[in-house]
Amino acid sequence: MLNLVFLGIQGSGKGTQAGLLKTKHGFEHLNMGALLRQNMAQKTQIGLQIAKYMLAGELVPDNFIFTLIEKNLHPEARGIVFDGFPRTLNQAEFMEERIPVNYAVFFDLDDETAIKRLTARRVCQECKRDYNLLIKPPKDDNYCDQCGGKLVQRNDDHKEAIIRRINIFHEQTRPLIDFFTKRNKLIHIDALDKPDIIHQKLISGIKLKL
Ligand code: ADP
Ligand code: ZN
Repeated sequence: MLNLVFLGIQGSGKGTQAGLLKTKHGFEHLNMGALLRQNMAQKTQIGLQIAKYMLAGELVPDNFIFTLIEKNLHPEARGIVFDGFPRTLNQAEFMEERIPVNYAVFFDLDDETAIKRLTARRVCQECKRDYNLLIKPPKDDNYCDQCGGKLVQRNDDHKEAIIRRINIFHEQTRPLIDFFTKRNKLIHIDALDKPDIIHQKLISGIKLKL
């Protein structure tokens, strides 16, 4: 069991790397943002109450997040990649009491590159697979390689919400880098590299310390 926390600014490639660990190495990918969007789409009790935060690019209150974590923890052979959780010190403390974490991986990217990447992000309306016109382009800019669905922008990938999310990262999530460094669990990754290079570094980072 190898549990990883992924930390990094929006657009730093956490989701892409989690996807690679899932398909190539059998990790489970617990993607908090996707879980929240799924609850909104299905209009669950939680989904109905969180839409306003999501659209504005603000953090969803902890009680909803904690409920979802408790519901979605399926202990699994290979391990879990936590993507988008924890995002605050309070969430990190909640996690520390319940879930063993082996490493926290910090995908380091500057704000300017992040903003460029987010505006180029596209998601398939049907199967929700995501693409990036700059770094992970589909064969056709408008349609999904996997299912042919229409590619659209996420409704929180507009300028104001992007900037708000990046600010929240600096204010509330950055302190987690210190939190995990103090516990000797931090792996630092330069997120400017191409996805396959980052994947290799990630694998060797994890193995080196095993
Ligand atoms: P991004 O990392 O680009 O912001 P995500 O899909 O990870 O995209 O998250 C989208 C939104 O979901 C966030 O802006 C926030 O509103 C909400 N969210 C995700 N994870 C958390 C969390 N751990 N705590 C509070 N809100 C969260
Ligand atoms: Zn698709």
